[in-house]
Amino acid sequence: NVLIGSAPADGQVSDLARTVLRVVSEPVTYEGHELSLSASIGISFFPRDASDFDGLVACADVAMYEAKRRGRNNVQVFSTGTSAAARTRQHVANGLRQAIDQQQFQLCYLPQVELATGRVVGFEALLRWHHPELGWTAPPAFIPLAEEIGLSDALSDWVLRTACAQGAAWRARGLGDIPISVNLSPRSFWDRELSGRIKGTLEETGWPASLLCLEITEAALMAGDDPQEATDRIRALGVRLALDDFGVGYSSLGNLRRLSLDVLKFDRSFTSGIPTDADDVALIRTILALTRGLDVTVVAEGIESAAQRDALLAEGCRYGQGYLFGWPAAPEACEGILRAGRIQAAEGQPLSV
Ligand code: C2E
Ligand code: MG
Ligand code: MG
Repeated sequence: NVLIGSAPADGQVSDLARTVLRVVSEPVTYEGHELSLSASIGISFFPRDASDFDGLVACADVAMYEAKRRGRNNVQVFSTGTSAAARTRQHVANGLRQAIDQQQFQLCYLPQVELATGRVVGFEALLRWHHPELGWTAPPAFIPLAEEIGLSDALSDWVLRTACAQGAAWRARGLGDIPISVNLSPRSFWDRELSGRIKGTLEETGWPASLLCLEITEAALMAGDDPQEATDRIRALGVRLALDDFGVGYSSLGNLRRLSLDVLKFDRSFTSGIPTDADDVALIRTILALTRGLDVTVVAEGIESAAQRDALLAEGCRYGQGYLFGWPAAPEACEGILRAGRIQAAEGQPLSV
């Protein structure tokens, strides 16, 4: 802890803290290795934030965690807003720890179709959390927190097992063998035990590896040392791999080629621009042209209108998903789609089968 005795303004203290960060982060050489450190600094003020030493340290602590959350090497001044946000996070984190046991999670399924015919070629499993007070909650609101508090493996296991068991249940009821995609959080993807756990889940549920596809984002793929080894380990099981949200991050087709991924899903932000935005059309055209020589299935995400579907078809994109074909739905609601095997999407009637 650093105590500054005089009473400088907020800005001056932040400047001082940044100087400290700069000094701390200067690389040092130790036994021939270059080492660098990062730090996060939280600041609180007497008597504005607290009137005693323990209170001041507690406020600085809350601010420091907020600084860490915003990315390392950051400075954050305490505010009551930070404190309220920290309390809410704590509350949600406590809820998450009990959510699996309390059966508050559910998977919804989003159909993936062959654009020209409406034939259903798969379902993407999407996680939902029914929080006792906040109601239904979508994954971006809690997955990063689940990762932070070390719950990502338990959650991935639950999602994998539930999705594979669902596929097996549909199959047992004579509804066919429908490929199922599951999203993996970055941390789970890099867990060395992952392939063993997938194998166990497939054996336990009786779901064939060839009907399981795992979706990861490019950022997740690039977050570890040896993506080749990690993807090889999964593909060796016979499970397919999809690159999700392509186009929002590195967008490297080199990755796709080198890592021999099976599916490329390009992000909804491109789909939303077509057919009017010439840049988006050009981007999609380029992606399709560059993947033509590769053994990769391209899937368009976020198709909401017939005009978008038609433009994608005209560019040679064969597969897609989005609200035009259906909202993420509970398993029971998917049975009609599975029986029909296709979705005749008409604008304004996304769920017509
Ligand atoms: P994603 O994998 O790209 O999933 C597609 C998201 O887009 C879903 O949001 C879906 O509801 C939404 N979507 C689908 N079609 C349309 C459309 O036509 N228009 C618009 N505006 N949106 C559409 P959701 O369910 O909120 O999921 C968000 C993200 O959270 C997912 O993006 C995925 O990255 C992650 N996620 C979902 N389920 C899981 C999970 O089980 N585990 C992990 N780790 N992440 C998950
Ligand atoms: Mg996905
Ligand atoms: Mg996506």
